[in-house]
Amino acid sequence: MTVKIPPDQIVIRPPVEAYSVLIPVTGGCSWNKCAFCGTYKGIYGVTQDYAIRALEDVKNDIDKAAENNYHGFPVFLAGGNPTSAPTDYLVEIVKYVRIRLKNVTRVSSYAKALDILQKTDEELKMLAEAGLDIVYMGLESGSNAILRIMKKGTNAESIIKAGKRILNAGIQLSLYIILGLGSHKYSEDHVKETARVLTEINPTIFRFRTLNILPGTPLWDEWKSGEFKLLTPLENIQEERDIIANLGENVTSQVFNDHVSNYCTIDSSNIKEDREMFIKTLDYYINDPKIQNLPRKNLIRM
Ligand code: SF4
Repeated sequence: MTVKIPPDQIVIRPPVEAYSVLIPVTGGCSWNKCAFCGTYKGIYGVTQDYAIRALEDVKNDIDKAAENNYHGFPVFLAGGNPTSAPTDYLVEIVKYVRIRLKNVTRVSSYAKALDILQKTDEELKMLAEAGLDIVYMGLESGSNAILRIMKKGTNAESIIKAGKRILNAGIQLSLYIILGLGSHKYSEDHVKETARVLTEINPTIFRFRTLNILPGTPLWDEWKSGEFKLLTPLENIQEERDIIANLGENVTSQVFNDHVSNYCTIDSSNIKEDREMFIKTLDYYINDPKIQNLPRKNLIRM
């Protein structure tokens, strides 16, 4: 059974925002069509329609956080894609966070590439100047074939454009990559094109996640029918290794495997400096018989 919840309740946030003050800004996702995503479609027992909350309601939540002395923390503006909201509205919220909460260490939100492309450079700068520090965006893959099949609603070039504009405006950018998203058929394209997009953008951070197929998503049916195959743990690690190995020399991003779905936990504060170590460590995993024989689990609760 699923329950429809209002936009002032939060369905997900990035793991790195686990100890942040969470302020709901939008509910649901304005796109809500990605074949692998069930976030707002009932997989966590809830559905949520896309909505932009009333400004006064968001401000009231910020006031409540101030009254409860939530000073000195990061603040996450929650919802699938708050950047779909008008810029003036977002600027006012970010400014209000900075006024009402003292010593905020970071203000962040999710972002969708197509929303960013709807905004002018000036608008992005206004957000940066108001105090929006970082946005988390799903690249998922640099392969246009995979993005199309997965109904991401965007392509590599638009993500590159959006990513560069975010960085140029002075906002940090964290991109997500889903290992195994192209199954075996598109694995090579996934590696090559993801490395290409990362090289073009040189994001502040990129983070790996491993594909797990969730009930209720279109991909679930394809997996159950045998049409779509999951990569083994070893193949997922191999993809990550090859993406890192294919990065251009200019890439200085931080890299994280900070998700329960991942088969390795190595991180880097600068992949340009750590690339050799990163690849060596992943090769160590790849040659480890324990990893080679590790059964593939499909996590449906994360
Ligand atoms: S844009 Fe993000 S939240 Fe929306 S359906 Fe795709 S993956 Fe899910």
